[in-house]
Amino acid sequence: MDINSVVNVLKSDYITQGPRISEFEESLAEYCDSKYAVCFNSGTSALHASYYALGIRGGDEVITSPITFVATSNAALYLDAHPVFTDVEKSTGNMDVSLVEEKITSKTKLIVPVHYSGNPVDLKNLSEIAVDHNLCMVEDAAHALGASYDGKFIGNSGYSEMSIFSFHPVKHITTGEGGMVLTDNKDYYDKLVMFRSHGVTKDNLQGEPDGDWYYEMQLLGFNYRITDIQAALGLSQLLKLPSFVERRRSIAERYDTAFKGNEFFKTIPRSSYGLSSYHLYPILINSEYRDRKREIFSKLRLEGLGVQVHYIPVYLQPYYQNLGYRRGSCPVAEDFYQCEISIPMYPALSDSDVDYVISKVFKVFHNL
Ligand SMILES: *Cc1c(COP(=O)(O)O)cnc(C)c1O
Repeated sequence: MDINSVVNVLKSDYITQGPRISEFEESLAEYCDSKYAVCFNSGTSALHASYYALGIRGGDEVITSPITFVATSNAALYLDAHPVFTDVEKSTGNMDVSLVEEKITSKTKLIVPVHYSGNPVDLKNLSEIAVDHNLCMVEDAAHALGASYDGKFIGNSGYSEMSIFSFHPVKHITTGEGGMVLTDNKDYYDKLVMFRSHGVTKDNLQGEPDGDWYYEMQLLGFNYRITDIQAALGLSQLLKLPSFVERRRSIAERYDTAFKGNEFFKTIPRSSYGLSSYHLYPILINSEYRDRKREIFSKLRLEGLGVQVHYIPVYLQPYYQNLGYRRGSCPVAEDFYQCEISIPMYPALSDSDVDYVISKVFKVFHNL
C-alpha cells in the first residue's frame, strides 16, 4: 500500500506542490480534530516555523525541557531567541510544571512542552501558567502522535497555539523526512504557509499587481516544502496509525506487567489525565545500579537488544556549553539521563519478541 501510493505519485503530473500535500494536511487535521495543518520537510522546520509564526525574535526567551532532541531548543536559536531549560519530573522525564513559573522573566514569550516518550505533559496546569503570564505554548508532539489528553488527541488539546509532529522513520508514521504543524488559528496558518516557501504569496497583496504573474515576498521564509511523493507515503501511513498506536500500547502493557515492582528499575507510570502513544519505552535504573549504566547498556546490546538512551540533556552538548549553559542547572534531568535506557518499542515486535526482550533484560540485571 505504501509502495503503490508513492508509485502513483511518480506516475502523476506532480512530484511536489501537488494535491497529495493538502490531502495529507487535511487528513491529519481531521484525525486530530484541528482546523488547520501545514506540512513541512521535517519536524525541525515545523518547530522553526511555529516559533516564527508566533513572532519569536532576537532576545526572546523560550522555556523548554532539556530531556528532548536538540531540535526543540535549536529552533529558538535559529531566531536568535534564548532557550531556557526547566527541570523535569523524575518519574516521567516530562517538564515539571511546578518549576516553570520561576523561569519566567519579562523576556519570556513561549513555553514548549515536550511529550516525552509519547506520555502527555500536564497541559491544563501548564496552560494556566501560560495564560497568567500572557505566554504562548507550542507542543513538541514529535513523540505523541495518537496520544491523548483529557480524551482529546494531542495536536488539538485546546491548550496551546500550535502542536508539531515529526515523520522521521523512528516516529509513529513516516514520510522519510517530514513534519506538520497543527493550529486552530488562521493568522498562524497563513504565516506558516508563507514561511514554508520563501515568504512568497499571491494572496493579501501589499502592492498593485502588474499582471497575472505577480507575486510578493512579504517575509523572510525558507524552502521547507515537502514533496508529493512523501505526502503520499504519509497518507497511506496515516491509515495505519490507529493500529500502530494500539500495538504499541499492548506491547507497553506486556512490559508493564512483566516489570511491575521489580528490584532493578522503574518504568514510566500512567498518568491520570492522558494516554501515551509510546514512542519510547524507557526504563529508569534504580539508584543502586546507576553507576553501572554503561555496563548494563553494553550488556543489553551484547544480548542483541537495540537499546538507546533518550536523551543527553540538551544543554550539556558542547555547542550549548559554549553558549554558557552550565552542568547542574537541571539536576533532575541530569539524574534522569544517568538512569534512562530505552528498550525496543515498535509495532512490528511480536508478543514473543517482547517476551524475549523481557527475559534478556532480567538476565542482564540478575547477572550484575
Ligand atoms: C524527532 C524529533 C524532533 C525533530 O524532528 P525531525 O523530523 O527529525 O526534524 C523534534 N523534537 C523531538 C522531541 C523529536 O523526537
